[in-house]
Amino acid sequence: MAMIAFIGLGNMGLPMAANLIRAGHQVQVYDLQPEAVSRAAALGAIPHTTAVAAVSHANVVISMLQSGQQIEALYSSNKGLFGHLAPGCLVIDCSTIEADTARKMADMATKHGLDFVDAPVSGGVAGAEAGTLTFIVGASEEQFARAQPVLAHMGKKVLHAGPHGAGQVAKACNNLLLAAQMAASCEALNLGMAHGLDAAVLSEIIQQSSGNNWVMEHYNPVPGVMESTPASHGYHGGFQVSLMCKDLGLAMSLSQASGSPVPMGSAARALFSFHHSAGHGGLDFSSLFRFYHQGED
Ligand code: NAD
Repeated sequence: MAMIAFIGLGNMGLPMAANLIRAGHQVQVYDLQPEAVSRAAALGAIPHTTAVAAVSHANVVISMLQSGQQIEALYSSNKGLFGHLAPGCLVIDCSTIEADTARKMADMATKHGLDFVDAPVSGGVAGAEAGTLTFIVGASEEQFARAQPVLAHMGKKVLHAGPHGAGQVAKACNNLLLAAQMAASCEALNLGMAHGLDAAVLSEIIQQSSGNNWVMEHYNPVPGVMESTPASHGYHGGFQVSLMCKDLGLAMSLSQASGSPVPMGSAARALFSFHHSAGHGGLDFSSLFRFYHQGED
């Protein structure tokens, strides 16, 4: 079993680390928030008070932070982890960040004799808890083969998108589509409810019809329709509006770089940005339903 360091124990990182512990790995953990480290320790992780201490003796390092800026600071700043890892160490970044930053990290890692792969995830907190995430990997064939068995403990699909950065490009495309699906699903449900339909009945009808999508099947935005979704728990936990705004920004940058039109993504970005500015950045992204259905809590 590998000695794995896991950095970033938020909504996604903590349940992912828990699955590695369940699989029998020794997992050394660090997060800026001591409570998150304590929660991981209660699940069997080895707690540390700095990232440098957490990676000592590790042959695999996994990070799950919010942004590319945080990832650059973690690995490549003056005191960054790249200078502390033994040559041959495998670094897997599961955060959703800029493809360019992932490529830059991979180049720097190579200079330190390390393997760096971008492996953003899809499947949400429920997927992280159940160990059913989809990993979308950017790496060489050899690096993908090294990362695959580790990621398989936390997900049911590990997909190779292409070379470094390709995982992040694919993830940005996916989340552009997810954002548009969420906005359109909120819109359709609110429209039906405004005309007297029951949200659960309408949801069931859409699920059995051509408008069905991942949001309708797994992440209904109307409180009370699905017991386990953030919508039924005050829109807490899950995937924050601020993170969806970040991901739509990543998609917009890709669109500018290639000149590809993204009018649907732009509309979704405007909606989520407006919702964020109204003070809902910390809520789950399905809280966009409140934008349509005023007074809903
Ligand atoms: P989160 O905010 O819940 O967790 C991030 C954690 O990183 C926090 O606990 C924070 O304290 C910690 N952190 C930040 N900087 C750190 C540092 N330098 N050292 C150690 N810890 C640090 O975010 P999340 O929802 O877990 O998302 C993590 C990443 O996964 C994001 O890039 C997000 O876009 C992506 N993602 C999230 C979901 C989801 O449903 N939440 C789904 C797919 C992908």
